[in-house]
Amino acid sequence: MPQIAAQIKPLVRAVHPRLPRGSGDPSQMQPAALGKLRQNSEPAMTASAPTRITLPRPDDWHVHLRDGAMLQAVLPETARDFGRAIIMPNLVPPVVTTADAVAYRDRILAALPQGADFAPLMTLYLTETTDPDDLAAGFASGLIQAVKLYPAGATTNSASGVRDFDKVRPVLERMAEIGLTLCVHGEVTDSDIDIFDREAVFIDRVLDPIRKATPGLRVTMEHVTTKNAVDYVRANDDDLAASITTHHLMINRNHLLVGGIKPHYYCLPVAKREEHRLALVEAATSGDKRFFLGTDSAPHTDPNKLSECGCAGVFSATNTMACLAHVFEAEGALDKLAGFASENGPAHYKLPVNQATITLEKQTDPAPFPAQIQTGEGPVTLFNPGYPLMWRVV
Ligand SMILES: [Zn+2]
Repeated sequence: MPQIAAQIKPLVRAVHPRLPRGSGDPSQMQPAALGKLRQNSEPAMTASAPTRITLPRPDDWHVHLRDGAMLQAVLPETARDFGRAIIMPNLVPPVVTTADAVAYRDRILAALPQGADFAPLMTLYLTETTDPDDLAAGFASGLIQAVKLYPAGATTNSASGVRDFDKVRPVLERMAEIGLTLCVHGEVTDSDIDIFDREAVFIDRVLDPIRKATPGLRVTMEHVTTKNAVDYVRANDDDLAASITTHHLMINRNHLLVGGIKPHYYCLPVAKREEHRLALVEAATSGDKRFFLGTDSAPHTDPNKLSECGCAGVFSATNTMACLAHVFEAEGALDKLAGFASENGPAHYKLPVNQATITLEKQTDPAPFPAQIQTGEGPVTLFNPGYPLMWRVV
């Protein structure tokens, strides 16, 4: 690793160019929708700000790799910058048994580019008929790293999820006993609860009762989107942690809805008010070990996004590290990026930090990201924060 002093160069540019080259098409976005974000996210420029940082190879603690032709296309995007990733089990049909997870892991390994430094961390989809013995055996073998709780109907392919939480109590008790982490999609699905309130209501009605009834259960609140969730994590012990996505650090609900709907910003949980985004940024950049990266990178083809009933999901595997460097630089917190992206997640999952490293460098021209990647199922549009990304992994 180079000397720290050698990584610090004087900043040659105080103002970003307004438009990225080849990084999506911000001309299609309404300035009214993006103006406030730009203002809020201009990096804090100081003469001594680093323009090169080296971190342990990061991990993604929540990613959707899909299957088949889509898996082939998106896996290299994740494997390029990340050493490991928690692989979501919401295939059709879902990954519910250890045998399902073995087969899915083998398909992922077969799709990995030659020489890739990447290990998939497998999860099981919790159903009302999950067998505690099967899950314990999968965990003991080292294959299963977490179990995923989707309230039925909460998001893409969650129809098999849990309706009656009493039915999964024996499974949760077994998990607490053996130290297997529960990952939760923290939204209620009751039709009378407003979509913007579903995370906060889930904490009160579901998560807090589950945790109180199952002492010692390790829980990851995934892709938190609200100040309520950040406060709840902070008020509890180390058995509870939260992942935060790249895009929820960069967009609020205005970016989704003002000046024309932006389907590529639509995801679940849906982006919330700016005060919530600010709480997420504060948590991510605070150095608190209970917050770490889970991109929730979730590819859908453009025809499935740009439709009368568009799918929920943001695809950010390709440019997440550039986005995060931008966010952390804007907060004057580049020194906290390694904790968020590389160290806090392994600590929560009781795994070692990756030994390999990656280096991010700030360029004088915007980093060249494609607007889309091509897959065997159709084009998938890459997350575009609406302003230039100057950082890139070198
Ligand atoms: Zn997800």
